[in-house]
Order: sequence, then C-alpha cells, then structure tokens
Amino acid sequence: MSRYWDDMTVYSQPSAGELRAKAKDSVKRAGKKGKDYEPVHCNTRRGPICETWWGQAWCENLERYADYANRIDRGKGYVRSGAVIDLNVSEGKVTAKVQGRRRAPYKVEIRIGRLPEEQCQAIIERCSRKIESLETLVKGEFPDELKDIFTEKGGLFPTPRDISFSCSCPDWAMMCKHVAAVMYGIGVRFDENPFYFFTLRGIDPDRFISVAVESSVERMLEHANVKSDRIIRDEDLTELFGVV
Ligand SMILES: [Zn+2]
Repeated sequence: MSRYWDDMTVYSQPSAGELRAKAKDSVKRAGKKGKDYEPVHCNTRRGPICETWWGQAWCENLERYADYANRIDRGKGYVRSGAVIDLNVSEGKVTAKVQGRRRAPYKVEIRIGRLPEEQCQAIIERCSRKIESLETLVKGEFPDELKDIFTEKGGLFPTPRDISFSCSCPDWAMMCKHVAAVMYGIGVRFDENPFYFFTLRGIDPDRFISVAVESSVERMLEHANVKSDRIIRDEDLTELFGVV
C-alpha cells in the first residue's frame, strides 16, 4: 500500500537544477562572509560516483548496509547535483554542509571510530609482507595488491557500528539523504587522496608506512640471520669433524 508520508517526501524533492543553483548561491554567500567552502565535485554522470577502486569500494561498503538503503539513492543524486558544498575530513570526523530546498544549507557531521590498536597492527603486519606495494602507497595510490587488506573484515573500512552521524534537517529517517550525500562525498575525496582513509580511522599515514617498512626490513634481517646461523653451524661441523 502506498504511504502518505513517504509519497510526500518523494514529491517534495528539489530538482537537480534547483539544488545546483541554490548550492552556487550558498557558496557565494559564504565567500562574501570570508568562509572558503570546499565543494565536492563528482566527475561521473552515471554509474559509480567514484573513479578509483578504493573510492568505489567505499561506496559499495556503504551500499551493503541495508539499514541505510532508503535514502542512499537520493544522496547519490544530491552529490551529483553539487549539493555537498563543503566537506572536511579530519581525524575520526567529517564535517560538511549540504544544500537542500531551503536557502541555508544543512550541517552534517559524521564520526568514524578509531581503528583498534590490534587491528591496526594486524594490517601493518600484512602490508609489511608486500614491500613493493608499500612503495606505491608512499606515492599516494592504493595498490591493487592491498585491496583485500583494506576492504575485508577487520580492514580499514568502517562497519555501521563504527559510524555515527547527525544532520540539522528535520528528516526522521535513520540516515537522511544529506548524510548519504556526504558519505558519497567522502568517497570522492578518497578518489583525490586515499590517505584520508587513514586520517578518518585515526591513523597517521606516514607513521603507518614507516612502521610497515621497518617490520618488512626486520623480517628480511631475520631471514638473513637464519641463513648465517646455518653457515656458522656448518663451520662448527667442519671443525668438529676435522674436515678442511
Ligand atoms: Zn538531513
């Protein structure tokens, strides 16, 4: 059966053109007040919102959670219309402004839990076994070989339990379209800079990489020691048996 209130929210959707024009005005107004907004520019017109595998993996991770499904599509339309007019990623937190039908944009805040220490150590340990991939990571790109490490259970990606959010709009849905738009917006930011993944989970990427490289070197040295032990043992045997 069709529901009155659900239909109302569908019919009251602002068009993409309306959103775009209002978003432009809001950015201009903020600029006049000395606020420098950083809008999210979505480059794709259809299909996935993000262009890189890691940005797309972020969106797929988001879409997997059925609890959020009802507003997710609208959020996608919002981010494509340029409604996310400001988005800042900091440690464990994203703050954003999203343009809606009314003149003033809505304020959205998303908090992502810190990656637990053991989980972080386990990821470092696995990365340290792929030294060439670490070099690619240093250049600011997520190598394909590290895909599983980041996306599978226990990786960098947050689960719904790690995410909490708020929006200043009156929508009663668990996740409103503005929050959904910001979640997609985070994916676009990831496209531009994958290190935001680390920042969001409370990890300093430089330290992460240097610990992974150190672990890798330690492992190589351990292997080298095992070899030299064997040589010493061989020498001992030579001495023992008096063979030259
Ligand atoms: Zn909202």
